[in-house]
Amino acid sequence: MSGTLFLVATPIGNLSDISARAVKTLHDADFIAAEDTRVTRKLLSYLNIKKQVISYREHNQHEVGFKIISRLLNGESCALVTDAGTPAISDPGEDLVRLCRESNIKTIIIPGPCAAIAGLALSGLSSKSFIFEGFLPVDKKKRLVLLTQLQDENRTMVFYEAPHKLKRTLDDMLSIFGDRKISISRELTKIHEETLFLTISEAIAHFNNVAPRGEFVLVVEGSDLTLAHDDAINTAVKIALSYISDGITTRDAIKRAATETGCSRNELYKTIQGVFARLG
Ligand code: SAM
Repeated sequence: MSGTLFLVATPIGNLSDISARAVKTLHDADFIAAEDTRVTRKLLSYLNIKKQVISYREHNQHEVGFKIISRLLNGESCALVTDAGTPAISDPGEDLVRLCRESNIKTIIIPGPCAAIAGLALSGLSSKSFIFEGFLPVDKKKRLVLLTQLQDENRTMVFYEAPHKLKRTLDDMLSIFGDRKISISRELTKIHEETLFLTISEAIAHFNNVAPRGEFVLVVEGSDLTLAHDDAINTAVKIALSYISDGITTRDAIKRAATETGCSRNELYKTIQGVFARLG
């Protein structure tokens, strides 16, 4: 009989947030697959657990994934952890879970900390419905295209961001979303935990004075734009931008989107140029 893959959530800062069930699972598993073995060894040493730890990270996940599956098929159990938080959420794990599904291997979650959910809960913004975008693309054009596609999104939006990219992201958000409410949580559960409730322009002013440090979750208010923005040209812009992000040339993307929506190619071209002009 095959073994079980346990997805074990670990603390996002404060080690006391490890659950009793997570400790038992790490203790009982035959082996642990970890994103960074050094980080996980520190946690195991805090928990006084001695166990084989293998590396399972973005760069080796294909090769190591198959090795883990083979051990699971041979009846061993594996606890998968990442450096912090819930595996498979902007972290390695998704592929391994899919492989387990395909091989009929039992997969169990040991739920626990997740920075996105912690930031959302603290934001005070609507959590009735929300979207999670994780990290924005590093490539400027792709980032702008994605943010433009999210311009009319009326659900609350949750993002992860690194400190050195925070100011750039806030600038892009201001130029595309306008001056909305934003909740910025940093270093959650750690000594310097802080959550700021501001508008995007206030956040820019704040981080012009205070250098961003630590790990960040950004929670942005959804759009309250009304039907006026849902006109044909906006639909055509979104279609063209999604073609562009798929790698189609701007010219062909505009041509296709104009044909599909019946919009004027010239008007569409001018609007898209306006979007790209913001790229600087
Ligand atoms: N799987 C993890 C989870 O469930 O939270 C997220 C992993 S992702 C690679 C790491 C990002 O999560 C960081 O860059 C930061 O944006 C966010 N993050 C992680 N820990 C955090 C913390 N203590 N406070 C604020 N944000 C945090």
